[in-house]
Amino acid sequence: MPWSREKHIKYEKEIRKKAFLLFSIEKEKQGCAMCGYSKCGACLDYHHVNEKSFRISAKAFYYMTPRTLEELHKCILLCKNCHYELHYKEGELE
Ligand SMILES: [Zn+2]
Ligand SMILES: [Zn+2]
Repeated sequence: MPWSREKHIKYEKEIRKKAFLLFSIEKEKQGCAMCGYSKCGACLDYHHVNEKSFRISAKAFYYMTPRTLEELHKCILLCKNCHYELHYKEGELE
């Protein structure tokens, strides 16, 4: 069977799903660095403590290049509540 566009889209979707799942599981294992929340990976974000080069997405995490790993080392894992609270205190919105 030739490599159709449809097949490619389906493949991309599956990768994204897998990546998202893996990313969530990994985050749940770590939990929030401030309050310890670890119930749902989708509610946990990597927050940049040091200078930010790029946002760590599920896909970047899945492919884990040395660049992503380096970026990950600049981050702490926080739940949405702690994350927003921290940014609010710092007077930033992102
Ligand atoms: Zn938290
Ligand atoms: Zn942040």
